[in-house]
Amino acid sequence: MSELNIFVAGEWRVGGGEEMLSTFPADGSINARLHAASLDDVEQAISAADQAWRAASWRGLLPHQRALILARAADLISQQQEELAQLQTQDNGKPLAETRGLVASAAATARYFAAACEVLEGEWPSNRQPALLTLSQYQPLGVVAAITPWNSPIASEMQKIAPALAAGNAVIVKPAEATPLLALRLAQIFEQAGLPRGLLSVLPGRGSVIGEAIARHPLVRKLSFTGSTNTGRRLAHIAADKLIPTSLELGGKSASIVLADADLELAARGIVYGIFSSAGQACIAGSRLFVHRSLYQPLRQRISELSRQLRLGDPRQPGIHIGPLINHAHRERVQSYVQLALAEGGHLLFGGEPPAAPALSQGSYFQPTLLEGLSNQARVCQEEIFGPVLVMLPFDDEAELLTQVNDSLYGLAAGIWSQNLGHAMQLAEQLDVGTVWINTYKVFSIATPFGGFKQSGLGREKGRDSIKAYMQQKSLYLALNPHPNLWSD
Ligand code: NAD
Repeated sequence: MSELNIFVAGEWRVGGGEEMLSTFPADGSINARLHAASLDDVEQAISAADQAWRAASWRGLLPHQRALILARAADLISQQQEELAQLQTQDNGKPLAETRGLVASAAATARYFAAACEVLEGEWPSNRQPALLTLSQYQPLGVVAAITPWNSPIASEMQKIAPALAAGNAVIVKPAEATPLLALRLAQIFEQAGLPRGLLSVLPGRGSVIGEAIARHPLVRKLSFTGSTNTGRRLAHIAADKLIPTSLELGGKSASIVLADADLELAARGIVYGIFSSAGQACIAGSRLFVHRSLYQPLRQRISELSRQLRLGDPRQPGIHIGPLINHAHRERVQSYVQLALAEGGHLLFGGEPPAAPALSQGSYFQPTLLEGLSNQARVCQEEIFGPVLVMLPFDDEAELLTQVNDSLYGLAAGIWSQNLGHAMQLAEQLDVGTVWINTYKVFSIATPFGGFKQSGLGREKGRDSIKAYMQQKSLYLALNPHPNLWSD
């Protein structure tokens, strides 16, 4: 166990707030003890950030010079890949195979936005008057708040830090209460990469206190948030009062759809991965499974067989598919949804409770769970569970399927399994969701925009243009034949 300092305005210090612990969800042992930021720390971090982004030493950097800092950070992350993956596994309990992927994704994100920064161009609109030249350039917004959840820390933090810095802003990161370690390591990495002082602060602390103080601060000019829909809505209200932009990556209740012509084995494997990887703690978890009635029985059987082969256990060990949930309180919440499903008339096909193995008794593990016999109106089909719980629902025709899939407050993602690509594309077009996977699930590309429809979010992360979400346009009019104004004619 170590004592950690937090990073405020370019200085490592003991936070002025309450004591916080990072614990290992597999056995409850303490990884690190630290003190949260205080409201004073928030004030100092934000006023230093406001000076830092305006300073000539940052503002005057040419795009390739800013890009170099991001590229160096990416190299440092890649060099420390294994250690960072282990740290994240300790912090949130995801198996090493997954956290290695998240670390690689953070490095790739930093490299991608370094490139986006170098190639970003202003605009030269076509002339409407011969003696007038107009230009439109992109400028930073100022201080950006990056507020993140616990499920994929290093990746979701870099998805905000990299475009925000590439665009010339300063960033205040508020990591989730349960997972402060990776954000603090990112601060170290950016310091080593040569980022000038004050441009990045990491302020761990309670969302309702520290997160809210950051969001409300008058010098914060953008809220970039990933987390639950309720918190996102609250932040959107704050942003509306301040008239500042937000980007909100929120919750989901995504559907996997198996059409009558699907490759059954491929679909079964993709569906099991789509819901049970990360122990279901993924915004895009495919938690509702709509299956054409002709394939319902064989698919149920194959999903059951594959799920029995999944290995639950210490996420640091090789070959483990499912680690613990983030903590015991969350496990109780997940289990209460299973009880609710049974009370609503559902049948439990497997799982539904913590594993019995004594070796796993200290961790907040929960078994992969399959339910059926419910309608799409059941609360377990409408509310985000954020755990390894899958509900199977048969369908007979596609009109009925579409109505049910789209009957959700959420609209984050969906998967379609079919051997007829043209047909799958037509179906994809009609789904009210931000991402559709066809014959695969839960794969990502930093070059492809990601975000939700409906209550799953506002705005897009990833993709070349997402750097512009951290910028504002300024237009310039240059008189080529100077004259004061129209009255002088
Ligand atoms: P959460 O909303 O409880 O917390 C997210 C962050 O917001 C944390 O840092 C928290 O401290 C902070 N926060 C909480 N209240 C706040 C307030 N009043 N003001 C400012 N900040 C506040 O979410 P969580 O439980 O940490 O994460 C799980 C949720 O995140 C799920 O709903 C999941 O679907 C969602 N998520 C979405 C995406 C996406 O890309 N769409 C990705 C990952 C997770």
